[in-house]
Amino acid sequence: MKMIDTHCHLNFPQYNKQRDEVIHQCFAQGIKYLINIGTDLETSIKSIELSNKYENIFCSVGFHPHDAESYDEDGIKSLLHNKKIVAIGEIGLDYYRNLSPRAVQQQVFRKQIRIAKANQLPIIVHCREAEQDTFQILQDENPEKVVFHCFSGDYNFAQEVLNQGWFISFTGIITYDKARSRPVIQDVPLEKFFVETDAPFLTPHPFRGKLNKPYYVRYVIEKIAEIKNISPNKIAEITTANAIKFFHLL
Ligand SMILES: [Zn+2]
Repeated sequence: MKMIDTHCHLNFPQYNKQRDEVIHQCFAQGIKYLINIGTDLETSIKSIELSNKYENIFCSVGFHPHDAESYDEDGIKSLLHNKKIVAIGEIGLDYYRNLSPRAVQQQVFRKQIRIAKANQLPIIVHCREAEQDTFQILQDENPEKVVFHCFSGDYNFAQEVLNQGWFISFTGIITYDKARSRPVIQDVPLEKFFVETDAPFLTPHPFRGKLNKPYYVRYVIEKIAEIKNISPNKIAEITTANAIKFFHLL
């Protein structure tokens, strides 16, 4: 299988003792490309550094809603000349943990969508228990290309997202949250979704509880293949092609 993990955080300290080893394992285990995701200025810079070290790693830069209060617009803009940046993200709203005030999250989300538009970059959206406001802001700001990372909405929200022409992306959550994700996966068109791990978080079954690694994206692919009754190889091929096109990887 040739797979793309479209969302991982290999720059995080969980990998400090084994980062290069894990990356080599990824490529040995069938990973074609990785997209490493920024969550604030420091992690965005580290994502760029990692992508500059490995030809097949790309990156995104941006401020996660948890970090909205420390938003540094000039800092993000100063990074954008780097050629390996393929998206602004992860950005959005998180009303579950509310680590930054909601009004600040909304403002920072809007500002980063504008940066993405000005630079013709897709956005990677983090949305947790904030579906209505996320939807409203996206409709107001009208970014060019949108993916809902770690899609956790129900069937109806998935349809609303897809009707807007936006994409959804599945993590290992689908291997343990079956009742909610099954109808979403059943109906999502083959050309409208990606797969990801969000490593080091959300380790798929059967490794739940252990450190996640991007090549475990295989278990996300296998679960989708089972639900859609299509071979894992075909799902890997399609999701890889979808990601290459959406993020302009080539
Ligand atoms: Zn993430």
